[in-house]
Amino acid sequence: MSVERFIDPTTVPRSHAMKAAVIHAPRDLRIEEVEIPAVGPNDVKVRIRAGGICGSDLHYYQHGGFGTVRLQQPMILGHEIAGEVMEVGSAVTRVRPGDRVAVNPSQPCGHCRFCLEGKPNHCLEMRFYGSAMRMPHVQGGFREVLVCGEAQALPVPTGLALELAAFAEPLSVCLHAARQAGPLLGKRVLVTGTGPIGALAILVARQAGAREIVATDITDTPLALARKIGADIALNTASDTDALAPFKADKGYFDTVFEASGSAAALTGALDVTRPTGTIVQLGLGGGPMTLPVNLLVAKEINLRGTFRFHEEFAWAVDFLAAGTIDVSPLLTEVVPLAEAVRGFELAGDRSRAMKVVLAL
Ligand code: ZN
Repeated sequence: MSVERFIDPTTVPRSHAMKAAVIHAPRDLRIEEVEIPAVGPNDVKVRIRAGGICGSDLHYYQHGGFGTVRLQQPMILGHEIAGEVMEVGSAVTRVRPGDRVAVNPSQPCGHCRFCLEGKPNHCLEMRFYGSAMRMPHVQGGFREVLVCGEAQALPVPTGLALELAAFAEPLSVCLHAARQAGPLLGKRVLVTGTGPIGALAILVARQAGAREIVATDITDTPLALARKIGADIALNTASDTDALAPFKADKGYFDTVFEASGSAAALTGALDVTRPTGTIVQLGLGGGPMTLPVNLLVAKEINLRGTFRFHEEFAWAVDFLAAGTIDVSPLLTEVVPLAEAVRGFELAGDRSRAMKVVLAL
């Protein structure tokens, strides 16, 4: 696959260029012209129509990165994308021009030790769209035209709006997290942090047969949405710091916790309310080291598990969305035109107003 080049629009004809949302520095997001890459025999050229703004896009926009990952060069943001096939390479059989697709932003190398072990989400040479983890950075999907590999383009049926198909990526993150948790049928589930990932975890837990779902957050707006999409109880742990106290009795109440906030306070609280031998799946990426009451982890034999990205779950997510068995439409706050990307990012960063903002490209 070819690497995109930032171009001088005065020297490259418009027919070979497209618009993209390029982050240069914190709060310096520009709509720029980028050259359209060539299509190889195994490639698919997609007219991207929808791109969901993710927490990591927001971190680049607000802070120029997260943890040790920092922007070192201009980068097209975006990895939650869907569009229409424009052109296919000579060897492509899975899709045809005109097909609608969700694009898997994950590009594992296929030959490192973890790829060969069937754990491509741990690929040593992973190229994930819109990520500054590598140099040069892997350019993202907030662009009018994207050339991807055939394996990345998953057909979606005409009945599924592309702004909803763009949820396939975050939904696959939550499906992978649910597999870390093990069976959820009959389980009492706590979801801490009800941003888009926490909200999708609620939908997945409900679909997987959870008996009871309690959600916590520090903002009322996403908690109201959590109730609407299936949480039995939604608690504001900022306005009532003891909101989870009733669940501490008798060594804890919850079988499974999805920690989607990345906050040490939330994880510490989760250790208090998890039953002996229960499982906490850590989805939220904290800002750095945390101090935890490890005595609770030991004495209650709690399983604390990480979860990172996804692989085969992307196709599952597309199927759940296509069939309507998981309905993400309540999470869609607004579809914002690319030209208003800065407004879209400011909206996405305001949790009192937004759950998921999708760019129309
Ligand atoms: Zn690999």
